Amino acid sequence: MDCIFCKIAAGEMDANILYQDELILAFEDISPKAPTHTLIIPRKHIATTNDLQESDKELVGHMVLIAQKIAKENGIADDGYRLVLNCNRGAGQEVFHLHLHLLGGRAMNWPPG
Ligand code: 5GP
Ligand code: ZN
Repeated sequence: MDCIFCKIAAGEMDANILYQDELILAFEDISPKAPTHTLIIPRKHIATTNDLQESDKELVGHMVLIAQKIAKENGIADDGYRLVLNCNRGAGQEVFHLHLHLLGGRAMNWPPG
């Protein structure tokens, strides 16, 4: 399997890592769509949200809480930020390793495109 986010998790590919532990890591998006654009990923390969299992509940909760922590550290928590999980191509998913987008530092439109 040739997965760029597995390679980043394994330290085989460079990324600007902001947080990591035994379960997840967070790093800057290579092509940021907002002043803060961080990706939070599980270390284990999960292709999409469709592949999540009951046993991944804590993992996903941990990803969200780390996103919250990074938002606070970046000073965007009070103004607001967006957390996005794109599932499959129709939603714009391009990398098929689960990743939570943390976007902030600018006004966001609703509904999203
Ligand atoms: P998706 O469209 O799959 O939800 O988001 C994939 C995200 O991964 C995009 O925002 C894209 O800029 C980012 N990305 C793709 N390749 C790389 C990479 O090699 N390194 C980093 N840091 N981000 C990447
Ligand atoms: Zn992967």
